Amino acid sequence: MALARQRNVGPGGYSLFGQEMEDELRERYVLLSALRRALDPVQFELHYQPQVDPESGAIGGAEALLRWIRPDGSMVSPMKFIPLAESSGMIVPIGTWVLETACRQFATWNREAGLAVPVSVNVSVRQFHEPGFTDVVHAALDSSGLPPELLVLELTESLLLHNPDEVTAAMERISALGVRLAIDDFGTGYSSLSYLTNLPIRQLKVDRAFVQGIDKDPHDEIIVSMIIGMAHNLGLEVVAEGAETEGHVGFLANYRCNLIQGYHYSRPLPVTEFERVLRHPPWIPPTP
Ligand code: C2E
Ligand code: MG
Ligand code: MG
Repeated sequence: MALARQRNVGPGGYSLFGQEMEDELRERYVLLSALRRALDPVQFELHYQPQVDPESGAIGGAEALLRWIRPDGSMVSPMKFIPLAESSGMIVPIGTWVLETACRQFATWNREAGLAVPVSVNVSVRQFHEPGFTDVVHAALDSSGLPPELLVLELTESLLLHNPDEVTAAMERISALGVRLAIDDFGTGYSSLSYLTNLPIRQLKVDRAFVQGIDKDPHDEIIVSMIIGMAHNLGLEVVAEGAETEGHVGFLANYRCNLIQGYHYSRPLPVTEFERVLRHPPWIPPTP
């Protein structure tokens, strides 16, 4: 390590190792100051990815996925800016915008077109721990008129690692509003499963790493079938994410996975394209 670092010392005596870190820090700073300005005027968009019932081909839900489109038209991946938004606290106002926008959109489709499709919204740990979070959810439902049963909040298992009493109380308050709670990326995080029976959780989302092992890795197949079986025994709904092939979908359908989300059906779509698919789901076989 010391040798590697030594080799990187440039002619001016400065270390390239240090230079790289400095560049990274500068990039982070530039991105963060741009992110601070991205809500006014809004540079975000929500894309929606259908969750399809493999039996009927109907759309049983959709996940709202955040996209940041910079004024120059370039798009920043959520994998890059969500961690930055989380560490800076910006995720709190951004998350409120996501919640309000998704609720307003799905309430409109529900009211004007009679489309009663639930929308799933990702909630970060930081956002969930804000003291007023339940009020934010309540206000988003209230001002949009979205029926609470059409909102699913996706939480991650890491939420369960700290302040379990506080987390349980907050989950119960949210669940009392009629909103459903889901565990995102299920199977990758927490080791104790007892929370599944103690907390008001209604849905598990099988992590795409396992789904993508179907047809490739027998261990992943065992994990996926076990998660689906366990969820059903506990009376929970299961959604698989990241299904890309016919083989993935066939396997999941065989185990009666309730809903499937993935490129096999559709990528996340901008509003107008999603609306077209929502009105005429191409996966419903034509009646003879
Ligand atoms: P996630 O919640 O697990 O979302 C699923 C991710 O898998 C999305 O990535 C989606 O585009 C991608 N995906 C879906 N189907 C497939 C597939 O068949 N193959 C592959 N390779 N990928 C697939 P995306 O949109 O880049 O989002 C990444 C992560 O960023 C999300 O993971 C979520 O943790 C976070 N995120 C996105 N939007 C929000 C938001 O509004 N709030 C918060 N807090 N986090 C968000
Ligand atoms: Mg998610
Ligand atoms: Mg996920």
